[in-house]
This record gives sequence, C-alpha cells and structure tokens, in this order.
Amino acid sequence: MKHFDEFSVNLEQVSPMEKHIRKVIRNWADKDCIPFRRQYDEDWKEHKIIEPAFQKLMVDLGFQKAMFPQELGGWGIGHSDYVFRIAYALSEEVGRADTAIAVAFLVTIWPLTTILVEPHVNWRLAREFAPWYVNAKHPVFSALTMTEPQGGADIENMGLLGGKTLRTTARLEGDEWVINGHKLWPTNSGGVSKLFGVPCTTKPGSHDKNDFAIIFVPTATPGVSEGNPYEKAGMAADKNSDIWFDNVRVPAWYRAHGPGLDAQTFAEIIPWGQVASIGFMTGAMLNLYERLYDFVSTRTYRNRPLKENDAVAGVIGRIAGDIDICRIVGYEAACIGDRRNKAYGKPIHNEEVIGKIRNIKDFVSDKTVENFGRAMDVLGAYGADRDWDIEKHWRDVKIIQLWMGGKQLCQMEAARYFFNCTSI
Ligand SMILES: Cc1cc2nc3c(=O)[nH]c(=O)nc-3n(C[C@H](O)[C@H](O)[C@H](O)COP(=O)(O)OP(=O)(O)OC[C@H]3O[C@@H](n4cnc5c(N)ncnc54)[C@H](O)[C@@H]3O)c2cc1C
Repeated sequence: MKHFDEFSVNLEQVSPMEKHIRKVIRNWADKDCIPFRRQYDEDWKEHKIIEPAFQKLMVDLGFQKAMFPQELGGWGIGHSDYVFRIAYALSEEVGRADTAIAVAFLVTIWPLTTILVEPHVNWRLAREFAPWYVNAKHPVFSALTMTEPQGGADIENMGLLGGKTLRTTARLEGDEWVINGHKLWPTNSGGVSKLFGVPCTTKPGSHDKNDFAIIFVPTATPGVSEGNPYEKAGMAADKNSDIWFDNVRVPAWYRAHGPGLDAQTFAEIIPWGQVASIGFMTGAMLNLYERLYDFVSTRTYRNRPLKENDAVAGVIGRIAGDIDICRIVGYEAACIGDRRNKAYGKPIHNEEVIGKIRNIKDFVSDKTVENFGRAMDVLGAYGADRDWDIEKHWRDVKIIQLWMGGKQLCQMEAARYFFNCTSI
C-alpha cells in the first residue's frame, strides 16, 4: 500500500522543523484521536470524550505554547521564516484526524498572530498573556470574534468596506476601552475560551482604517456573556455560540497595536485563516485517500478488487490527482504568506496576497467537497456508514467551505485583484 506522503510537497520549501512536527502529530492522531473520533458527534455539548485529545495535543505535547517567544517560555514559531508553512503542516496533520479539533486548536493561535508574529510583536501583551498558555496544566483556548448578526462576509471584506459595517464599538474612557456589541459563531465560543480577540470600531459607520480596532478581552471580564453551543451538522469538537459585550472594560493597552496597524493586522489574519483552512481540507483528503485505498483494495467486483475496474479507477484516479494538486497549491498559499516582505515583496495584507490566497481556499474547498462526494459514490452504502469515516469528513469539510465569508467573498476578492474591480 502506498503512503499518503506520496502526495507532492516541494521538499526544498519545507522547514527542517516541519518533519519533526508532522511525526509527533501523526503519532497523536493515530493513538489519541482517530480511534475515538466516531464518538465525537454525540459529545458535541459535553466534550468529555473529546477533551483528552486536546489535553494531549495542546498541553502534554505543548503545542499551545508554540507561537510564543522563547524568552516567554514558548517555542518562538512566531519568529520563524517558515511560520505559515508550519501552520499549514499543523493544520494538515491535525485535520487528517479531525478538522474540528484542528480549527479549535489553530483558532487558539489565530488572534494571537496579531501580537506574536514578526514584524508586529507586541511584547507587553505577549508578556501579559504568555503565562496563561505556557504554564497551563489544561488546554487554554482563544477565539477571534469577527462575525456579527448583520453579516460576517462584510466584516472580512476590509478591502472594500474597511470595517464600515462593524457594530461592536470600543469607546476610550480614561485608560480603559469600553466595549459593547454582539458576535456570533466564533470557534471556541460557548464558554470554551479564556481570551477573545475582538475586532470592533471606534467610530461606527466609518471606513477609515484608523477607526478599526482589535482589542483583547479576557472572557472572565464583567459584562462578557455567552450562549450555549449551537448543534451543527458536524465539527463537534468546535463549539460556536453568541457572545455579548455589555459595557466591558479592559485596559487601553489591551488594543493590539493602534490606529492603522490594527486594520493591517486584521487584514493579515485573513490569509492565516485561509491557509489553515486549506490545510484542514488537504489533511481530511489525506485521510480520505487512506480509507478509500483500503476500501477499493479489499472490496471486490466480479472477483477483482474494485480498483481494478475501469469505471472505479477513473474516479479514484481523479480523486488522487486532485489531492496531489490541492496539496501543491496549498503549499504555495503558505509560501505566499511566508514570503511576505521578502522575495514576494508584498506584505500579507496586500490585495494581491489576500485575493490569491482566498482563490486557492475556494478552489481547494470545491475540490474537497467534490471528492468526498465522489468517494461516497464509490463506497455506496458504506459511504454513509460511520465505520468508514468518510461521511464524517463529508459533513465537516462542507462547513469549512462556508466559513470566513463563504464562497462569494473568495470570488469577489479574487475578481477585485485580477479584474481591478472597484465597487465589489
Ligand atoms: C464552524 C464554524 C466556525 C466559525 N468560526 C468563526 C470564527 O472563529 N470567528 C468568526 O468571527 N466567525 C466564525 N464563523 C462564522 C463564519 O465565518 C461566517 O458564517 C461567515 O463569514 C459568513 O458570515 P455570515 O454567516 O454572517 O453570512 P453573511 O455575511 O450574512 O452572508 C450570507 C451569505 O451571503 C453571501 N454573501 C455575502 N456577501 C455577499 C455579496 N456581497 N455578494 C454575494 N453574496 C454575498 C455569503 O457568502 C453567504 O453565503 C464560523 C462559522 C462556522 C460554521
């Protein structure tokens, strides 16, 4: 049997650290997650069965401290030239086991990228929050609270709207921000997180990027409240809910950076989320390949393995070909992120970088959803059988296609760059 490592990766671009990280996570996936994941759906509310997988990954193996500087007890990955590629490899390896664990884990790092990744390290905030993650005996989660009831796609559409539709407000009173607003859906909401990164506006209705703010809010702060987790089609390891901020007060220096740079780091957060999403999907497809290989090799049709029949070979050949291509372009998306300010010559908040990475995410989403559908066709009734794991990924990857502004925003941002659109 061929190994899923056969799928293409440009070895010249891989960081020396990545090989080790992949090995450690693969071991975690095979021992601590995959054998239990079929029970996760029923555990969506309690997380009793899911919790040990987080404990092992984030605390025992230490991945929740990865992004923090070494001076503060972390692994210093935020200072690495390979940081996007490491995030991609992590997303892929964890996503192979469970894309919801992958998103809950990576979103813990997501808002912190604004203050931990070169060239925008905010040392005062890094020192403030590092002990929470670095010294913890239990998983510590964070959330990035962008989406609001009036629409998440518009909030992420910084290139056109510049934060104009945000209704969550921050008012400076003395040396404190006072925050009011209502957010929906963030990964790790519903009582999971210890820290929120809150995109908000200091002047409602303004599209001036100087009025856009990212403010860190510890969830134990008075005035923060959250709803119960939503019950979704899948992704049980990720809890999502409503969050309300009612005159929530935090120190003024809990703002990520200040006027201008907050909007820029928010625009940079988008490629982070997209590259991780691509990794979740290629990871799920690596697992699709493992399960499909087993199925078409062991099931027979007219006394021959299924894979030796022309009609089946045509389908599985296309699936494997798509996985190979998606991995190549996924890696390229991560490399675009890592080339920021260097060979590529473009900072990652640039419209070209955002448009191209969104385009790759949309492309890989389509291919992933399509290929899980095709695999279901090959497995027939077994495709719907939880024992084969395909239906779990099939439910989960559809959700990945929908988040972060959905297909339309990906298409609009690609069109804006490639066709110089000015009004979308
Ligand atoms: C599992 C999961 C995890 C999530 N995690 C997070 C998270 O960590 N943080 C967070 O803030 N949010 C999170 N979300 C929310 C998600 O990012 C939003 O649902 C998404 O951005 C779309 O926003 P919306 O639902 O408000 O839809 P809307 O923005 O209201 O859009 C509704 C529909 O209209 C389309 N649309 C929007 N604008 C246009 C346009 N101009 N032209 C054509 N069509 C358009 C959209 O693509 C969508 O199909 C998560 C959602 C899920 C399901």
